[in-house]
Amino acid sequence: MERRRSCIKKRKVRKSVYIARRIAALILFALLIWGISALCGKIISVVREKDGPEGPVQPDPPKNTVSYVVDPYRNTDSDIIAGYIKKLEEMHPDLISSFSIGKSAEGRDIMGVRLGRGDTEIIMTGSTHACEYFTSDYLMYVIDRYAVGYFEDERAGDVSYRDILDKVTFLIIPMVNPDGVNIALHGPDAAKDPDKIKSMTLADGGYDEWKCNANGVDINRNFPYNWNPEYASEDKPASKYYPGPYPASEPETQAVMAFFENTDYALHIDFHIHGEVIFWKDNGEFRRQDLLEPLIEELYKVTGYEDAGEIDVEEFGGFLENYACNTFHKPGFTLELATNVPYDASGFDSAVNDGVYRTPLIAAKWILENRDRLSETE
Ligand SMILES: [Zn+2]
Repeated sequence: MERRRSCIKKRKVRKSVYIARRIAALILFALLIWGISALCGKIISVVREKDGPEGPVQPDPPKNTVSYVVDPYRNTDSDIIAGYIKKLEEMHPDLISSFSIGKSAEGRDIMGVRLGRGDTEIIMTGSTHACEYFTSDYLMYVIDRYAVGYFEDERAGDVSYRDILDKVTFLIIPMVNPDGVNIALHGPDAAKDPDKIKSMTLADGGYDEWKCNANGVDINRNFPYNWNPEYASEDKPASKYYPGPYPASEPETQAVMAFFENTDYALHIDFHIHGEVIFWKDNGEFRRQDLLEPLIEELYKVTGYEDAGEIDVEEFGGFLENYACNTFHKPGFTLELATNVPYDASGFDSAVNDGVYRTPLIAAKWILENRDRLSETE
């Protein structure tokens, strides 16, 4: 009897030890899970910080009868852009329409998109440099998502899409240099005259770093404002910096100039790659920096971008942005998206944070609030 009792006692003790061990194991397991999730949270927050102040942007999918047209993770060539524009016009006939500002060197249409219904016009330009085709992807994404935001009557940050797009019209030239983009994306055989492209000396890099049009001219050195023939390392067509044989020699440059001349716009935003910086100051005769400072300060905050410094227009001639500001005396700035060039669309979320996505809306709101100040300077 005594032995049996001690046996039961021993069994009870063993059971308690077993239960205590299980509890300790469970506590350890819970602590381990907690530790791992805390570490993951830390990693995610670090990645998000890198992406921008508020992380990558991806608005919710449309709820109603419209759908998204633009796939931001796909690199855009001239055919893809044309397809997007056609579908967007069909999807949003009251808000989006297209036009052509002229033909490229190889005879492709340089397409424009009108987004909005307002009287105040803001011009946005992308892919002046061929290998910076990610700017076209960004601009098409903006058109698509803003249009759906309008349709669904949503807000982005503190602005309603309808408030802005009923008062402002964005005039967007998403691909100033369609021939060059095709060469940068698909190689010289994508040109209408591949032998001509292959006969040109590349300044450095391969065709994926092609900046110019199909004549080998860097469009963003070809504008007539302080055009500088000494720009090119070699005085012949090459993959970058060759300013052309004379100012505005290229059909793309001429088309853009005619478009600016015939548009009573309030602001111009040019998109390039790379560096995550904003160019907004130069030493030209039009002191746009006095005007733009409050807007740019806000953009630094929301995008996480930095000041690119002042451009010396004597040294850096032929740029579209400096030409536009100093010729038409209208404010303008350039956003240099992403960290490297060429930039693949698969990295869209890292390059386009919430502030970068909202930049055109923020600029439009600021223009509407400062219309009186702006007209004084004209
Ligand atoms: Zn560029």
